[in-house]
Amino acid sequence: YIRSVAAHMTIISELEFAWRQMKPHQKIIGITGTNGKSTTTTLVYELFRSQGLSAALTGNIGFPLCDYADKDYEYFICEISSYQLEAIVSLRCESALITNITPDHLNRYDDGFTGYAAAKRRIFENQNADDILVLNAENVPTQECAKGAKSKIYMFHKTEPVAQGAYVMGDMIVMRESSKLHEIVRLHEVRLPGAHNLENILAAVALTWRYVTNIDVLREVLRTFNGIEHRLEYVTVINGVHFVNDSKGTNVDSTEKALVSYPNAKIIAILGGDAAKKSDFSPLIPLIHAHCRSVVLIGEKKPVMKALCDKENITYTEAVTMADAVHLAFKAAQQGDVVVLSPACASFDMFDNFEHRGTVFKEEVMKLKEEHGS
Ligand code: ADP
Repeated sequence: YIRSVAAHMTIISELEFAWRQMKPHQKIIGITGTNGKSTTTTLVYELFRSQGLSAALTGNIGFPLCDYADKDYEYFICEISSYQLEAIVSLRCESALITNITPDHLNRYDDGFTGYAAAKRRIFENQNADDILVLNAENVPTQECAKGAKSKIYMFHKTEPVAQGAYVMGDMIVMRESSKLHEIVRLHEVRLPGAHNLENILAAVALTWRYVTNIDVLREVLRTFNGIEHRLEYVTVINGVHFVNDSKGTNVDSTEKALVSYPNAKIIAILGGDAAKKSDFSPLIPLIHAHCRSVVLIGEKKPVMKALCDKENITYTEAVTMADAVHLAFKAAQQGDVVVLSPACASFDMFDNFEHRGTVFKEEVMKLKEEHGS
């Protein structure tokens, strides 16, 4: 679209416009990537705030950067989409993170993945040698970014050491910086579940290392950060059964992540929703067999999912309302199990959006808790 506009006009994104109004002491900490942006941006914001820094949460999450034009925050912790990056000119992030780059939004770019990755890489094009760029050492397209960067680079990796950056050594999250190794926190102490969230945590550690100088602050936030609403959000426990709201699990990929996030427990998964989107649910089958005690089906997708469960020998029950689903899941659960709402479908058949679906789920869970007097 931008390329097709008359050549004499410069089109800039809202972010670039806001950047041009910022005062010299104000800085952008920019976070982009295909997945994990909101979780990591929120965690980084919590870390800045807990360190006592003057920071605002902005960009694709919260209010746009322009809304802060007259505010005096020093740091803008900013979630940035590839769309915004396409139309920057001079915007500079003092520190930037690319969480990962995987195929998405490919219909927008004539040259497909190359164009999409090129847009993401623009997050560091105006950085200089004093700035920091954090990249995912497990994701080839982000690693390739390092070639063109002038900035100081930190990497993160879940299993292998990196020269500079954050990784896991044994069961300890560590940060290596200028050949010094700093122990941060043990894996079992962090609250966020799942391997994907471990990546988000490591990325946040590397990105905030320069700013969160009190390591106890870092530890405390990692021990208590519960993620963001509707993404593997821990709700409560009733008679030993845990409840997790992953209503943002609106596609098969997200639900796959949810099902592998509780390796030490059995899951009762609440699946199903809007029928408009065509999806291939087959990648879920081996994960359901491996991790679920049973599933509860809801919404318009019920007939499709029911047929699949019958074919694949998966134990299921059928619910009409979210209240039914919560009750059926609780009935099917044993002590120590986790009931996870991660529908793998959009919500519009029964709810306004995924936030509404997650909120109703949490309300029904809390009603159930009252019924059980716990
Ligand atoms: P985004 O803002 O990029 O959409 P979120 O933090 O809102 O990302 O997470 C949305 C979903 O993406 C999560 O529910 C999870 O399924 C998946 N996800 C989160 N972090 C990662 C990651 N680091 N790598 C892959 N998938 C992730």
